[in-house]
Amino acid sequence: MNKSSENIKNARSANNEAVQVIVRCRPISEKEKLSGCCEIVDVYPNRGVIEVKNPRAKSDNERIKMFTYDAVYDSRSSQQCLYDEMVRPLVASVLEGYNGCVFAYGQTGTGKTHTMEGVVGDSDMQGIIPRAFEQIWSHINRTTGVEFLVYARYLELYMEDIRDLLKSKSKKQLVLREMAGGQGGVYVTHLHSQTCKNAADMMKTMRIGNKNRTTGVTNMNEHSSRSHAIFQIAIEMAEENNSKSVKIGKLNLVDLAGSERQSKTGASGDRLKEATKINKALSSLGNVIYALAENSSHVPYRDSKLTRLLQDSLGGNSKTIMIANIGPADMNYEETIITLRYAYRAKAIKNKPIKNEDMQDAKLLALQQEIERLKQLIAEK
Ligand code: ADP
Ligand code: MG
Repeated sequence: MNKSSENIKNARSANNEAVQVIVRCRPISEKEKLSGCCEIVDVYPNRGVIEVKNPRAKSDNERIKMFTYDAVYDSRSSQQCLYDEMVRPLVASVLEGYNGCVFAYGQTGTGKTHTMEGVVGDSDMQGIIPRAFEQIWSHINRTTGVEFLVYARYLELYMEDIRDLLKSKSKKQLVLREMAGGQGGVYVTHLHSQTCKNAADMMKTMRIGNKNRTTGVTNMNEHSSRSHAIFQIAIEMAEENNSKSVKIGKLNLVDLAGSERQSKTGASGDRLKEATKINKALSSLGNVIYALAENSSHVPYRDSKLTRLLQDSLGGNSKTIMIANIGPADMNYEETIITLRYAYRAKAIKNKPIKNEDMQDAKLLALQQEIERLKQLIAEK
């Protein structure tokens, strides 16, 4: 069996509702090579196994740590392969009315943004987000008898502050609210929804958001390693002969802040305060993953905005993929092991995805009612 079909087999044999956990190891960088780093990570796609050699081990049985995941990708893995094997089936479910989430976790510089966004405009190197746009519109363009309404929201979470990346100048307060009617889920008030008519529209929306992410930021690399970016796509679908019943599929695409321990950076003053807040979101995420994995009766979603935003994606109504990104160099041994343990724990999380059907809060429903009202007005004239 080739590598790709092995990876698919590993993923399918897992419980359908479990969070799927993928590990991807990026290639060694020129800088790492020049500074004499050794590679300590071995990836075995056919067994879903990652092995890491401890560069400072004193004995042989301490030397190698082994972890198994739903799928693993080595430094030569292509963007297309990862997408087709793992993400395409998830987006197909979103197009049936499920919630889906893909989030990238890992130390700064390990390839989260490369995996999520990739090189925009380069068809081989583009990442998950632009590929999802293409998949969504290729489905829409092929489908007859269904009306679609697609919109995007793009937000950033920085030090527990939510910023609307599509309306960065808006002064409206963005507040997290629980969905009404006990249907679960959390939404952000006043967050701009950009209706998109095709994949190019959505790409443009993403670019606008990315540009806003950089405004007023002195060091973009540093900023993006300290903030979480969430791109949300909602797809409303109504059959033309049954337009009262609207399905909604929602997809969360998340590029998390770098997971490296801030204490190592020797920050002080405002910097330390900032680091503590950034840590808070990721450590809350860790606590939520831990509680879910242990089947604990209390899951501390409310401890940070990040975990509230991802509440449905972890332990809730969503199909979720976690991608843990790692680097191969010995100098990152400790951070790599921390990431691998974190990801390993997430494998135990069980979600409860259900199709979002007959959605009364669909925008499509409101639009249809408006059309009916206008038709009647014309008829009465
Ligand atoms: P992060 O978002 O986790 O901080 P980046 O995505 O910016 O990391 O990646 C850091 C560097 O490594 C970038 O130059 C990126 O192009 C490169 N890189 C990351 N992953 C890969 C990969 N799988 N293949 C090739 N280059 C990669
Ligand atoms: Mg990044």
